[in-house]
Amino acid sequence: MAQIALNHVTKEYSGADIVAVDDVSLEIDDGEFLVLVGPSGCGKSTTLRTVAGLETATEGDVSIGSTRVNGLEPRDRDVAMVFQNYALYPHMNVRHNIGFGLRLATDMSKGEIEDRVEEAAGLLEITDLLDQKPKALSGGQQQRVALGRAIVREPQAFLFDEPLSNLDARLRKQMRTEIARIQEQLDVTSIYVTHDQEEAMTMGDRIAVMNDGKLQQVGRPNEVYNDPANRFVAGFIGSPSMNMLESEVAESDGNAELQSAEDGALTYALSAEMTDEYALTPGDRVTIGARPEDVRVAVSPDAFDSQSHETTVDVVEPLGSDNLLYLSLGETTWTARVPPSFEPSTGESAYLSFPPEALHLFDERGETLKSRDLTDPLTTSRVTAAGTD
Ligand code: ADP
Repeated sequence: MAQIALNHVTKEYSGADIVAVDDVSLEIDDGEFLVLVGPSGCGKSTTLRTVAGLETATEGDVSIGSTRVNGLEPRDRDVAMVFQNYALYPHMNVRHNIGFGLRLATDMSKGEIEDRVEEAAGLLEITDLLDQKPKALSGGQQQRVALGRAIVREPQAFLFDEPLSNLDARLRKQMRTEIARIQEQLDVTSIYVTHDQEEAMTMGDRIAVMNDGKLQQVGRPNEVYNDPANRFVAGFIGSPSMNMLESEVAESDGNAELQSAEDGALTYALSAEMTDEYALTPGDRVTIGARPEDVRVAVSPDAFDSQSHETTVDVVEPLGSDNLLYLSLGETTWTARVPPSFEPSTGESAYLSFPPEALHLFDERGETLKSRDLTDPLTTSRVTAAGTD
């Protein structure tokens, strides 16, 4: 086990004139599970492959433990990769598939290898499959065997490259939990690449969000969700996505307000404290953000003591536990997550509101000015009483 550090790592594909990884610095603690997440093409795999030694950094350093590994071959880095394409040997049974790397690359005795294979199989709950051939296994079982191959090597780090993308949704969820459990049990430093923000949120001790080769934010899942560093992270993390609206600061009767820039359909009065705290002056362009669960909806404007806006219900999407409402307000569609008992008809009017505490604001460059304020005395005291804070 070891800490992994990337220090100003850049990877340029000069022939293609592409900067796949752009000055990324990142430290993964000993035993930590870090998920690297971002849209397709943002440089996640290249970053991981640079740690594995399958790519060479154009600039910067990669270290594993106390060793700078830039010049080391992949096999000398003592890391194990797990891919989505698990490529098991079809003619070998599970036992031999798992032990193959050890037979090939170490001088361990047959007995020692057998012990490690048995131990890994126990951990993966596939002991009864050890004598089966891969073709007799389901996709999920094959992925466990692939994990087994990585585990028996007892590497300093696991590097996962979208290992679950071949599996169906249900199995994927199950394997997420399994991988997280096994990683925690083995306490091996891990980097896990995925484009799936939900996977990142549920699996990572911390998540690192990338876009366009650049690291956007590194933090615990809830931190990244509740206090995103910029507009990109705010929009990428969370499903359905955060509602966002371009707006301009304007003045009305001596008070500041936000007006939707495109259609003027939304105005949102700002308190003097807010304009002071975020240094907002008339003419400033800011993006308003509100999570679907923070958008309150009612059939009448009287339900709100703060500002409300009339909308038309476009779509009602029942999820069982909640309903998602898609509401049109001027040119924009707002998404609201409401209790299942609230089920307006499409075409009906509905009023939406979002309290100032729920509001996110991003400046013209997309940097965060304000995030939602979750200070809730009730939940805070409950968490503390349970001893988890
Ligand atoms: P991700 O894993 O986030 O989908 P990648 O790291 O695979 O992204 O790719 C990042 C960028 O680098 C993409 O624009 C991709 O097309 C480019 N790229 C990846 N590998 C190569 C390569 N071998 N040669 C040229 N360009 C590459």
